[in-house]
Amino acid sequence: MKRRDFIKLSAVAALSLTVPNIVRAANNPRVVVVGGGFSGATCAKYLKLWGGSGIDVVLIEPNATYTSPILSNLVLNNVKNISELRFGYNSLRQYGVQVIHKKVINFDTENKRVSLDDGTSITYNKLVLAPGIDFIYPNSYDITKIPHAWIAGEQTLFLKNVIDSLQNGDRFVMSIPKAPYRCPPGPYERACVVADYLKDRGLSVEIIVLDENADIIVEKDSFGAKFREYGIDYRPNSKVTYVNDQTFEVTYTQNGSSHTISARGINIIPNQKGGQAIFLAGVNDGNFAPVDTKNYESLIKKDVHVIGDAHHSSQPKAGHIGNGEAKVCAEAILRELSGYELYSAPKTNSTCYSPVSNTEATWLTAIYQYDPTTKDMKIVPGYPKAGTPSSQNFSDMFKWSGNLFSDTFA
Ligand SMILES: Cc1cc2nc3c(=O)[nH]c(=O)nc-3n(C[C@H](O)[C@H](O)[C@H](O)COP(=O)(O)OP(=O)(O)OC[C@H]3O[C@@H](n4cnc5c(N)ncnc54)[C@H](O)[C@@H]3O)c2cc1C
Repeated sequence: MKRRDFIKLSAVAALSLTVPNIVRAANNPRVVVVGGGFSGATCAKYLKLWGGSGIDVVLIEPNATYTSPILSNLVLNNVKNISELRFGYNSLRQYGVQVIHKKVINFDTENKRVSLDDGTSITYNKLVLAPGIDFIYPNSYDITKIPHAWIAGEQTLFLKNVIDSLQNGDRFVMSIPKAPYRCPPGPYERACVVADYLKDRGLSVEIIVLDENADIIVEKDSFGAKFREYGIDYRPNSKVTYVNDQTFEVTYTQNGSSHTISARGINIIPNQKGGQAIFLAGVNDGNFAPVDTKNYESLIKKDVHVIGDAHHSSQPKAGHIGNGEAKVCAEAILRELSGYELYSAPKTNSTCYSPVSNTEATWLTAIYQYDPTTKDMKIVPGYPKAGTPSSQNFSDMFKWSGNLFSDTFA
């Protein structure tokens, strides 16, 4: 709330002075936002909300509807229908954002131009990249046979079918990627939700979790206790090296030795990198894009900003904080276009609610503060804070997610 109040106040203060300057320009400055997920949609919305008629905002997103990965594990156990997680872009249009349903296939950052997959191109004064994640597969296998379900939509429904087809005595194997990856608690949450769902259906299914990390990386007490309660076979330091989509076998290494296990149900969540756009724009350093988190401008190319899961910083890759990064970025871009100094001490907040059954959830939250020395965000002392599984948290989860969904898409 404090951050939101600040943003409103500072934006109003800045814009009451600055918007007239923008309006007087012969041509409005144009900001092109690539990707309409939690970070991109928020950034486009707030650029227009705060920038008003003084700025042109174009959002480029190939899909007419966005499916939220947040709460998508609850589709697996029938608590949510996937249609409840789908959002369109008409509200953004009503704010004055020009939404184009195309994919960006090339960038000319010298001449400030992006090329779309219909052969057209569009110029920008400022470019915001919010393309989410892409996967680093251990080998080439068919994801229509072995789902990741880490980008929500068809993959979520496919994984649900896999889980619904399991029978007594079957084995379900899922893998957890090496950090950093999208939503640190998400895979542990998924293992719990699936175990609880299968138990509720009266099925005895062996569940093996292969974690490439050395230990449960967040909320160890809560997830560890639930894993023991559900009888989940948790194997740390387990790196998936080969997935066989013909024999339904997974090969992994653990502490130097190689093992192969077969399973009727397999869910591989591969290692991750930023969406292809950051590579096409040449703003990646390794798998993600380094930025100055004061304004999310690339440390490699000027006037290119990267927010959400595709950027690299100390912040987690998550939708709630992506929404916050987007507002910091939008406000900074408006200041820059108006010739004002950047706000020097932005703060962001991350929150993840994790269902661990169809009635209980836990949560994890942290606040981050800009550190001018490193140009990165630094966790505020006293954080992270975590909850414990409860039905109260389960119901709070829907209030929290409802607020986040409407702040982003409504
Ligand atoms: C099971 C699960 C549970 C989760 N729970 C939580 C939670 O409790 N709290 C939380 O904060 N986060 C949670 N997350 C994480 C959250 O969903 C992601 O961190 C968030 O979606 C990232 O937002 P983004 O905008 O960076 O990327 P995305 O939401 O993936 O959006 C990227 C968009 O860019 C578009 N795009 C990509 N390439 C191009 C291109 N070339 N041209 C145009 N458009 C392009 C894509 O179509 C997509 O719409 C969860 C994730 C999962 C999988």
